[in-house]
Amino acid sequence: MSLKENYENIKKRIQAACDRSGRDTKDVTLISVSKTKPLDMLREVYEAGSLDFGENKVQELSDKIPAMPGDIRWHMIGHLQRNKVKYIAGKVFLIHSVDSVRLAEEIQKQSVKAGTDTDILIEVNVAQEDSKFGFHNEDVIPMVREISEFPNVHIRGLMTIAPFVDDPEENRPIFKALNSLSQAIQDENIKNVTMKDLSMGMTNDFEVAVEEGATYVRVGTAIFGERNYT
Ligand SMILES: *Cc1c(COP(=O)(O)O)cnc(C)c1O
Repeated sequence: MSLKENYENIKKRIQAACDRSGRDTKDVTLISVSKTKPLDMLREVYEAGSLDFGENKVQELSDKIPAMPGDIRWHMIGHLQRNKVKYIAGKVFLIHSVDSVRLAEEIQKQSVKAGTDTDILIEVNVAQEDSKFGFHNEDVIPMVREISEFPNVHIRGLMTIAPFVDDPEENRPIFKALNSLSQAIQDENIKNVTMKDLSMGMTNDFEVAVEEGATYVRVGTAIFGERNYT
């Protein structure tokens, strides 16, 4: 299958998941996760209609952004080190992976320097896996309150990386939990915080995530094929 067919196939599966759960497809954005993949493949997927691309490394983002069309929305989805924020401030549409107040503070500082505002999501380690970055559930509300004080940083929602499982149904409780946490935060009515976005679901479980309220799904392998890290 061509990349265009892969992309269209995922769009159809998102549509079907929306139909099953009574959602509007307009409320779900497919992010094409292009990490490790060469520019010609990104261009093919862009030509197929993708305007949202996700990368997990600052260096790769910095290389790819100037080489690709200007109407693309770039999503930083990987762990972000504070000393690298300066390279992406003002260049990315959304940072999905804010996992500490100190990182948010650096994003504030670099946003001011770049004369911009930055939209972020709070990464939550819902499954409480030791190997993962992200806040633990019980810390999220106090941390959201602290981060909301940074005037150039705007929290738009939550993100989680669910475990790799054979049966995507196993991750349904995780997606449900992220959704209810987001509602609990919304109910707090914190200034400078909106909970309109839920970034959850990858190649193996994006349909379940859509059924549970995802507004962003991050799909790499099912569009671009397996990644080769050697
Ligand atoms: C790589 C990556 C994805 C995409 O994973 P696939 O299983 O290839 O779809 C999604 N989210 C994050 C944070 C990633 O690092």
